Amino acid sequence: MMKNFNTVVIGAGPAGMMASIEASKKGTVCIIDSNPTPGRKLLLTGGGRCNVTVSETSRMFLKGIPAHSSFLHSSLHQFSPSDTQTFFQNRGVALKTEHNNAVFPASDKAETILQCIVGEMEKQNIVYQQATVQKVQIKENATFYIVSEQHGNTQIWETNHVILATGGKSYTHTGSTGGGYQIAQQLGHTIVPTEPGLIHLQAKPNYWNDCQGISLSSITLKWCGSKEKHTGDFIFTDNGFSGPVILNMSLEPFRKKELCIDFFPPISDEEWTHSVEDWRALHPTMKVSSWLQQWFPKKMVAVFLSLAEIQDTLPGAEFSKKDQHKLYTLLRGGIVNHVQKGSIEKAMVTLGGVHLKEVNPGTMESKIQPGLFFAGEVLDIAGKTGGYNIQIALSTGFVAGQLKTETKRGEA
Ligand SMILES: Cc1cc2nc3c(=O)[nH]c(=O)nc-3n(C[C@H](O)[C@H](O)[C@H](O)COP(=O)(O)OP(=O)(O)OC[C@H]3O[C@@H](n4cnc5c(N)ncnc54)[C@H](O)[C@@H]3O)c2cc1C
Repeated sequence: MMKNFNTVVIGAGPAGMMASIEASKKGTVCIIDSNPTPGRKLLLTGGGRCNVTVSETSRMFLKGIPAHSSFLHSSLHQFSPSDTQTFFQNRGVALKTEHNNAVFPASDKAETILQCIVGEMEKQNIVYQQATVQKVQIKENATFYIVSEQHGNTQIWETNHVILATGGKSYTHTGSTGGGYQIAQQLGHTIVPTEPGLIHLQAKPNYWNDCQGISLSSITLKWCGSKEKHTGDFIFTDNGFSGPVILNMSLEPFRKKELCIDFFPPISDEEWTHSVEDWRALHPTMKVSSWLQQWFPKKMVAVFLSLAEIQDTLPGAEFSKKDQHKLYTLLRGGIVNHVQKGSIEKAMVTLGGVHLKEVNPGTMESKIQPGLFFAGEVLDIAGKTGGYNIQIALSTGFVAGQLKTETKRGEA
């Protein structure tokens, strides 16, 4: 049996849910998702606490979007990080701001955020349907036919507006399988090749095997050969590196890269020079490993000395100028770490997706198919860790839900 709605939203993540709430102000809405309940990935966010946005102005927010940030100008203007806070606070959700302006529900539960959005969807009589959409077809009279499959049953929806909010293709058990890319392609859109973003880096070889679990705060990293510095918290993992600074560096597309870590501070250049002199003069029998341990954990010291080919028992009296130079160079970013990204399944976001040049940034409408809109991670845009990606989903979802049609049929 064919069902008819003014708008059909495909995907009930934060983008689709926000879009459905806005679209319900213009007519009937059905939201379709493969899961029995909405917001499956949202419940996992922020370690189950949901870092829902960043307490920043829209201008500052754009600095957290490494590529194509200008695409978000208009949507952030229409629904800003501060509008997100007001949306939840007006519906009784207390929020709190933590380190780096990250905003969380005061309850520390992602469920609080989800319940608030779902409560609003229920208030607006939005119909929720569990089904996996296979294809979207367009008929002569500018009507969309949405074909879905659920337990072997085919269902068809007829609508004037489709909002594609199917997310990326990581954590596939949450329903974000990348199926939306094929739907967009069927409708004439280009998909920028996808790859993992906000993902740990694997080091091959991994010199730091024994350092697993050691975390360093405000460390400075660079891609070897590049001048751009990235500073933030860092952790050695079982097979490489993670932590916010690493996750953010993974937002560039690449297969393999060389990573350089500057281990200063905790020690400054002057401290280093004075300390070498004092060690040689005042503690000539102290071993190099003990001397270095005043700044670095024992397991890291072992890696530094092994790569510098310096005996850990070497005393200050025998520490040559050459040793000093070799060790200093390694500590200041001279260790070349060959890295590659972890698998897309474990990525917090998917890079790539629907090509932005084919989407109107002021309306989120397709420039190819009038009445087709996009929202959230299905688009080729991603932000840093810290609440940027849910905000992108909410802002683009809000704008798509306005259903502003500017594209003329046959224009593209
Ligand atoms: C572990 C983890 C932690 C994260 N933490 C944060 C955080 O704290 N803060 C932050 O800002 N971001 C965080 N993110 C990123 C954030 O979750 C996503 O960017 C955001 O959920 C994207 O929203 P979306 O609505 O575009 O897509 P999604 O949330 O992925 O929702 C897409 C929905 O579409 C449905 N769907 C897909 N294809 C079909 C189909 N063919 N038919 C029907 N339904 C379909 C899926 O079932 C899914 O429910 C995190 C991500 C992960 C994986």
